[in-house]
Amino acid sequence: MFANNLEVRRFLKKYTNQDQLFDRVSRPSRYLGGELGTVSKDLASVEVSFVLAFPDVYEVGMSHIGLPMLYHAVNSLDWAVAERVYAPWPDMAAELRKNGLPLTALESQRSLAEFDCIGFTLQHELSYTNLLAMLDLAGVPLRREQRGEQAPLVVVGGPCAMNPEPLADFIDCAVIGDGEEAIADLCRTVREAKRAGSSRAQLLDALAGIDGVYVPSLFDVVYHEDGRIAELRPLRNDYTKVRRRVLADLSAVDYPVTPIVPFMNTVHNRVAVEIARGCTRGCRFCQAGYIGRPLRERSLEEIADVIDRSLGHSGYDEVSLLSLSTGDYSCIGPLLKGLMDRYREERIAVSLPSLRVGSLTSDLMEEIKKVRKTGFTLAPEAGSERLRQLINKGISEEDLLIAADNAFSLGWRIIKLYFMIGLPTEQEADLDAIVDLAARVKRIGKGTPGGADVNVSVSTLVPKPQTPFQWQRQIGIDETLAKQDTLRQKLRSKKLRLKWHEAQLSFVEGVFARGDRRLSPVLERALALGCRFDSWREHFRFDLWQQAFADCGIDPEWYLRERATDEVLPWDHIDCGVSRRYLLDEWQQALNGKATVDCRDGGCTGCGVCDFKSVRMCYATDRGQKTALESWPSTVAAAESMEDEEPCKVRLWVSKLGRGRFVGHLEFMTVVHRAVRRAGLPIRYSGGFHPAPQISFPDALPTGVESEVEIIDFKLRHPVDVQELKAALNAQLPAGFAVERAEAVPWKTPAPSLCIEETTYSIPLGEQAPADLAERIARFMAAEEVYATRLKKGREQQVEMRAGVVDLQWRDGILLLKMSKGSPTLLAGYLLDLAPEKTAVLGLRKTDVQLNAPVSEEPIIG
Ligand code: SF4
Repeated sequence: MFANNLEVRRFLKKYTNQDQLFDRVSRPSRYLGGELGTVSKDLASVEVSFVLAFPDVYEVGMSHIGLPMLYHAVNSLDWAVAERVYAPWPDMAAELRKNGLPLTALESQRSLAEFDCIGFTLQHELSYTNLLAMLDLAGVPLRREQRGEQAPLVVVGGPCAMNPEPLADFIDCAVIGDGEEAIADLCRTVREAKRAGSSRAQLLDALAGIDGVYVPSLFDVVYHEDGRIAELRPLRNDYTKVRRRVLADLSAVDYPVTPIVPFMNTVHNRVAVEIARGCTRGCRFCQAGYIGRPLRERSLEEIADVIDRSLGHSGYDEVSLLSLSTGDYSCIGPLLKGLMDRYREERIAVSLPSLRVGSLTSDLMEEIKKVRKTGFTLAPEAGSERLRQLINKGISEEDLLIAADNAFSLGWRIIKLYFMIGLPTEQEADLDAIVDLAARVKRIGKGTPGGADVNVSVSTLVPKPQTPFQWQRQIGIDETLAKQDTLRQKLRSKKLRLKWHEAQLSFVEGVFARGDRRLSPVLERALALGCRFDSWREHFRFDLWQQAFADCGIDPEWYLRERATDEVLPWDHIDCGVSRRYLLDEWQQALNGKATVDCRDGGCTGCGVCDFKSVRMCYATDRGQKTALESWPSTVAAAESMEDEEPCKVRLWVSKLGRGRFVGHLEFMTVVHRAVRRAGLPIRYSGGFHPAPQISFPDALPTGVESEVEIIDFKLRHPVDVQELKAALNAQLPAGFAVERAEAVPWKTPAPSLCIEETTYSIPLGEQAPADLAERIARFMAAEEVYATRLKKGREQQVEMRAGVVDLQWRDGILLLKMSKGSPTLLAGYLLDLAPEKTAVLGLRKTDVQLNAPVSEEPIIG
């Protein structure tokens, strides 16, 4: 269609900025920024800029609870700013590279390289190549010694910071422990260094003075000939160990109550409230349990206030109560009852993602049942009593069977059982015990109306630093596969299904979990070979990892070996607060099959974390709050009655312009649903077990196409002033979306998607239009049938387009498509002879919709 390739290139040239990449990548709303709740500061007016980086895709990172706390902590400082960045999906990373564009922060769209600090949250070891890939995409040199005076500081935090040694060549420092206060101290130190004109080396020296900050360049590592570490040699006499930072009183730091609300549905779409931090159960495999001590509970008042304000700001319809073991929260009964009573009318669900079998009372299960929709999960971790005793799980088979019985009798039909394999001293009998236990649970469910099923999941124990199992050998790939195979066959004979964690993923995770500085080159090599998103099965390439280890002369199996208890461990200079003596005692207790009581109710067992002055266990019940529901604060108006008074229907004409065009159709629906909740509109709900708001949307608009006229119908419980409704919604819609017009319509008006007669789209081609466009249009209109090819799920399909086209007009540089049905992008691509990815950048806009049904001739009340 274009005269030549040059013309096409010229036509597309203007689309080389970052916005235009969005047309070519999956789920562009990952990269838009501007979500409700984001903080935008004038960067020229702040002294310190921090970009918080999550080395996984947006929808995973946005569901993480820690990052918003750090975002809030930094943005609360009026002289500092925090922005966010998530790992770009491979298609976006490829586009950035192809177009020579850097990875940027979501808020300001500035390159990461322009920030003072880049802080990565590390949840697991399989995110390390993403960390490097993100630095690389931002043009930040990977190795710290290659970074100049002006380069950003690279900081890490999160559970993996408990052994950051495999990243030692890449990071400037690590925050060990609770980050809210430490990150503010870090920003202060950076500010002082900038004001004083300090060198990078002086800044790192100063950072080492902050409680909980580890600077790897201030340590040397000396090795024995056999490869073991001989010494972790401090380079400063006064900096020999780094003690974990503990936030003694969680309430001393403001909890963020204006959640960032994504356009898309992420992994978790809910208000997440951390009700407690730390766990003293003492499961010996659980790193989170040891590195989070002591237990610190938030007060009921604080939790109620955070939930109330967060719901009001976000429009979410679910609250999740988070802690390592939510059922252990000392006021869980009053908390749940209070939440259920308070929010039932507003149809807000309450979820408790982590419940321990011992804490599952039948009252609690009754409450959970009201919101749980899928399977019920129990985590015995080990099949035999012997191994459960060894790992200090502290639950008996009887506890498990009672919990399963309760679950089936309360109506659950699927129970998921989680186990680990590769536990210390594990024998075949212990695997048999997994099969027996699963079979017994299944038998309990026999006779459940609708049938009962049990799914068994197993993962391989990855011994983690700072736990009693840090000396334990991790089983290798062959052993893991053999155990999985045994379980699969034995479970199959009982008609039970097995799900398993990939042996190769656990292998790589295990190598880096207890790895040392000699693994940094392996990460660099793996990155160069193309490893990314290693925790994603579809992206994980074990062959490339094997090659990386081989190229660097590293035997990965060596890192899985049992460690002698007198061996220097790579993380021995990181002090998590629990003493080495205590971990060793626990390791011995495990081998002796002895339990250790929970210090919550069995008295202090001497782990060493508490000083019993500022750092000690802190219960909600210590705070002297009332537990009665009536005492809870309220910052949102009390819910109206959900009964219909005078149901009515309102029609809205909504525009979706600018960056709003990259918000996909399902995401657009989510944006509207949440805005409706925030605006407090009296929306009507469907009946049934999962009531849904009665909102009718138009047919899906292709992502990347703008619209001036998305017609949406609301059913309301009673009439409202439509102009007030329009204003209320506009106040809640993010940039790129606006209600242009609102009208009350008769109750029986058909949904807009059922009565569209004609839709008009415009394309501003200007002088870039092909010379023979008019003839093309004439030929198209004269034809009886016109077929175009489109790709659907990887297959080519022939689609007839002529029948859906009412008219085509070409005037004043604008091509108008008037269609009764069909895809405007396919039609435009056909007429202009462009591939789909190129039609996406044409600037298509839906400008008008003709409906074939009257709008306001009948009474409007239904
Ligand atoms: S020091 Fe004692 S009370 Fe504190 S967490 Fe450790 S075992 Fe529990």
